[in-house]
Amino acid sequence: DPPHDHIRSWLGIPLIVQEKVIGLLAIDSSNPNDFSEREIEIASEFAKQVASTLENARILQETQTRAVTDVLTGVFNRRGLMELGEVEFTRALALNRPFSAIMLDLDHFKIINDTHGHAAGDVCLHEFAKRCKSCIREIDYIGRYGGEELIILLPDAHMKASMNIAERLRIAISKSPILVDNKRINITASLGVACKDESTYSLDVLIARADQAMYIAKHNGRNRVAISS
Ligand code: GH3
Ligand code: MG
Ligand code: MG
Repeated sequence: DPPHDHIRSWLGIPLIVQEKVIGLLAIDSSNPNDFSEREIEIASEFAKQVASTLENARILQETQTRAVTDVLTGVFNRRGLMELGEVEFTRALALNRPFSAIMLDLDHFKIINDTHGHAAGDVCLHEFAKRCKSCIREIDYIGRYGGEELIILLPDAHMKASMNIAERLRIAISKSPILVDNKRINITASLGVACKDESTYSLDVLIARADQAMYIAKHNGRNRVAISS
C-alpha cells in the first residue's frame, strides 16, 4: 500500500510568528471529515503554542551564538574560544593526543589604520579572519584574541602539521591586497606556533608559549612563522 493510503481527512495549520510562517502543524485521520469546529479551534490554539515555543528556542540559540561570536570578524570571541578550547585541551591531555595553538598578529596595523582610516582597518580585520578560516580544518577553532590578534587551536595536530598550517596561513594572509574604496591594502601577519608537550599543563600555558613565539617572529622581521621550543 502507498504509505498515506489510510488518510481520509487532513488538517493543516500554519505556525505563525509575527506574521511569518515558520512551519506547519499537520494532523491526519483515517476517518472522512473528522475535524469538528471545536477540534480545529483546539488544534489552532496548540499550533500557536508550538510556534511560540519554537521561536523562543530559536531566540535562545541565537543569543547563545552571539555571546561567543566576535561581531567584526564573525569568528569566536575570546570567551567563546577559551570555553571550547578548554574542553578540547582537557580531552587532548586525557587521551594524550597532540594539540597546537597558533597566535597571529597583524604587522604594523597601526600604520594601516593611520594611513587608510579605522573603517578600512576594520575591513582588513574582517578579511584577515576570512583568509585564516579558509586555511583550517572543520575541527579547528579560530577566535579573536585581542584587537588585531587571532588564535587558532588545532586539536590532533602534530608539530609538523601545525608548522605547515602556519606557513599556509601566512601565505594566504599576504597573498593579495585587500580592496577598500578602490585602494589596495597589503597585510601581513606574524605567527607563533606552540605544540603541547610534557610541561604544557594548561591551555593558558600553551597560548602563552604561542604568544612568545609570535613575538620572536616580530623580532625576526615580521611576516614569518616562529616555533616555540
Ligand atoms: P606590530 O607589527 O608590532 O604588531 O605593530 P602594530 O601596529 O600592529 O601593533 P600595535 O599594537 O602598536 O597596534 C595595534 C593596532 O590595532 C592599534 C589599534 O588601533 C588597532 N586595532 C585594534 N583593534 C582594532 C579594531 O577593531 N579595528 C581597527 N581598525 N583597528 C584596531
Ligand atoms: Mg600588530
Ligand atoms: Mg597586537
